[in-house]
Amino acid sequence: MTSSAQNVPRTTNNAGIPIGSDEHSLSVGADGPILLHDHYLIEKMALFNRERVPERVVHAKGSGAYGVFEVTNDVSQFTKADLFQPGKSTEMLARFSTVAGEQGSPDTWRDPRGFALKFYTQDGNYDLVGNNTPVFFVRDTIKFQDFIRSQKRRPESGLRDHDMQWDFWTLSPESAHMVTWLMGDRGIPKTYRHMNGYGSHTYMWVNGGGEKFWIKYHFKTDQGIDFLTQEEADRLAGEDADVHRRDLFDAIESGNAPSWTLYVQVMPFDDAPDYRFNPFDLTKVWPHGDYPLIEVGRMTLNKNPEDFFVHIEQAAFEPSNLVPGIGPSPDKMLLGRLFSYPDTHRYRIGPNYAQLPPNRPHIPVHSYAKDGPMRFEPSRAARPYAPNSYGGPAASPEQSRDPVGWRTAGELVREAYTLRREDDDWGQPGTMVRSVLDDAARERLVNNISGHLLDGVSKPVLERAFQYWRNVDKDVGDRIAKRVNSG
Ligand code: NDP
Repeated sequence: MTSSAQNVPRTTNNAGIPIGSDEHSLSVGADGPILLHDHYLIEKMALFNRERVPERVVHAKGSGAYGVFEVTNDVSQFTKADLFQPGKSTEMLARFSTVAGEQGSPDTWRDPRGFALKFYTQDGNYDLVGNNTPVFFVRDTIKFQDFIRSQKRRPESGLRDHDMQWDFWTLSPESAHMVTWLMGDRGIPKTYRHMNGYGSHTYMWVNGGGEKFWIKYHFKTDQGIDFLTQEEADRLAGEDADVHRRDLFDAIESGNAPSWTLYVQVMPFDDAPDYRFNPFDLTKVWPHGDYPLIEVGRMTLNKNPEDFFVHIEQAAFEPSNLVPGIGPSPDKMLLGRLFSYPDTHRYRIGPNYAQLPPNRPHIPVHSYAKDGPMRFEPSRAARPYAPNSYGGPAASPEQSRDPVGWRTAGELVREAYTLRREDDDWGQPGTMVRSVLDDAARERLVNNISGHLLDGVSKPVLERAFQYWRNVDKDVGDRIAKRVNSG
C-alpha cells in the first residue's frame, strides 16, 4: 500500500499492519507518559536491542560481493567437480576480511586477509575458505586458539599487545614463513582487489575415472598486486577505517568488476609420500619449479549485496562444504577447520544458517534435517527418517564408490608430522627473503619488523625475536637487532 500524499510506501510493523506515526509514541496527552500497549514502539525497541548477532571470533571485519566463476581451461583430467568442467559458469559469493580486528577496526591494520569463496554448484555449495597467503602461522589445529588469543587483546587491559604476539611467534618457529609474509609488503594490500587468494591447504581432486590428485589453489589478481607502506596504512586507518570496504563496493557499483584468474598446482597422488617437504604442512608452499601453475578459470565479482547484513554478515563459509570430485587432505589444520566452521555458524547465526539467503544452495535440498530455531524451509522429506517407503530421498551409492580420501593406519599418538628431507621451519622463509624479495622489499621488511618490535616488546622476547630472524636469514636478523637496539 502506498501513501497517496507522497507516493512512498506506508510504514507498517513487522506484521504488515499500518502505523499511525513514525515520530510520536502513544502517550496520555501530548505531555503525558508513554504507554506499554504502544505495540509498535515496543517492537521497535525490542528488535533494536537484538540487531547484532555475535561477531565472528576471527575475520570479524569483512566485505563481500557476488559474482561468477567461469572455466577457461580443461582440467577435467584432474577433477570431475561440476564447477571445474569445460564451459561451465557458476554463480558465487566472496567475502574478504582482516583476521584479528573487530567489526569496527581499520581495514589497513597489518594482518592476513581472509579470502572466502562460496560456489553455488549443481552438486551443492562448494566453499573454499582461504587467505591472501599460501601458508599459515601454525600447522596443528590444537594451537589455533592460542595463536588467535596472542593476536587479540590482553585480559586485564583490553589492549592489543605486540609482546604477546612475538612471545607466541618466537615460541612457535613454524610461524616464521607466515610472519615473513605478514611483515613484508603483502601484509597490507592496497585494496582487496589488489591481492591474491590462496586455498592454502592441500586438497584432493578426483577425476571421472576415480584417479586422485593433490591440489593447491592460487587465485591471482587481474588488477595486479599492490600494497600500502606502513606509513600509508597508518594514515588511512585514521582517515577512513573502511577504505577497503569502500573500494570494493565503489568499484563494483561503477561497473569496474574485479577479477582473479584461478590456477592450481597438481601433485600426482603417489608423489606425496616421497616429496621433499610434507605436502600437507600448512606452513609450506610447493615450489612452482616442482609443480607449475595450471590455469583453470576466472572469477569476477560483479554484484554488490543489496543488504550488507543479510548477505555478508550472515554469510557462512565452511571448508567442510566439499562437492563430488573434491576432498580434504591429511592436513591437521584443515581437518580441524572442517569441524570448527560449521560449529561457529551454529552458535553465531543459528543451526538453520544454511537456509539464509547467502548460504542457500541454488539447487533443491533433500536433507533429513528438520526443525530447530528459525527454520523457514519446509522439509521436503515425506517421512522424516531414512530408509522409508513413502518416497523419501535415497542416498547416492555411486558417491561412496569413489571416496575422496586416502588410506592410513597407525597408532594413536600426539606427535608432530614426521620430518621429510627438507622439512624445517626456516628454509622456505629464508628462500623468500633472499631470492624473492629485492633490496628495497627486504629493507621494508626489516623496517616493518623493527617498528613492530619497538612497540612494547619485552627484553627476553626481543632476544628470541632477533634469533628467530637470524634463523630465517642471518643478515636480516642482524639488521633487525641493530635497528631495534639503536631504538
Ligand atoms: P618462485 O620464484 O617460483 O615463486 C615466488 C613467488 O613468490 C612468486 O611467484 C609470487 O607468488 C611470490 N611473491 C613475490 N613477491 C612476494 C612478496 N613480496 N611477498 C610474498 N610473496 C611474494 O619460487 P618458489 O615457488 O620456489 O617459492 C619461493 C618462495 O616464494 C617460497 O618459499 C615462498 O616463500 C614464496 N612463494 C611461493 C609460492 C608458491 O606457491 N610456490 C606462492 C607465493 C610465494 P604469487 O604470484 O603467488 O604472488
